[in-house]
Amino acid sequence: MPVPDEIWLSTATPPRRQGRAGLFLDRDGVLVKEVNYLKNKEDVALEAGAAELVAWGRHKDLGTVCVTNQSGIARGLISWPAFLDVEAEITRQLAAQGVALDLTIACPFHPDFTPGYGNGHAGWRKPGCRMIEHAGALMGLDLKRSWLVGDRTGDIAAARGAGLKGAVLVLTGYGMAERDAALALAAPGFEVTAVADLFEARLFLERAF
Ligand SMILES: [Mg+2]
Repeated sequence: MPVPDEIWLSTATPPRRQGRAGLFLDRDGVLVKEVNYLKNKEDVALEAGAAELVAWGRHKDLGTVCVTNQSGIARGLISWPAFLDVEAEITRQLAAQGVALDLTIACPFHPDFTPGYGNGHAGWRKPGCRMIEHAGALMGLDLKRSWLVGDRTGDIAAARGAGLKGAVLVLTGYGMAERDAALALAAPGFEVTAVADLFEARLFLERAF
């Protein structure tokens, strides 16, 4: 599938994990503490349990992928260099805990701020599912057995659209306010659960994978 130039990948060559399930993580409010339009690397702080969850995913030989909407870029609130500095700081803080994600994909689009916004953009921006699908294709992941952890309804909807097995809403970030709408996205063949934090998410996923 064609990838718009503006879609950012931490690496063009993530590890192949053919036939393995994926652990997809949202970034803001999940991997790192929610900061409105995070643009200063000094404001980067891993959520409690984030490094442990990524480490567990690797221990289970899951593909570990961060999928993040970054509309602050389209809005002119976050520059690309600032975004890259934040990403480097997240990588550094994870590395300090001895872990690394396989891949991060970021979508800078926003319907009100991206010129000519259309279906080609909406597919990538969550609740669109193309970031997940693209990661799955690059890494050979089995999306039907994969899970996502997010804090917004759009994360859960993207997981459902990509055909994942299920999604976990954490009540960190915006999760508390999104709980009812997120749980309502459960469907036959798509499980949704809400848990307090990433430690509980891992406990749930240990049984669910
Ligand atoms: Mg979020």
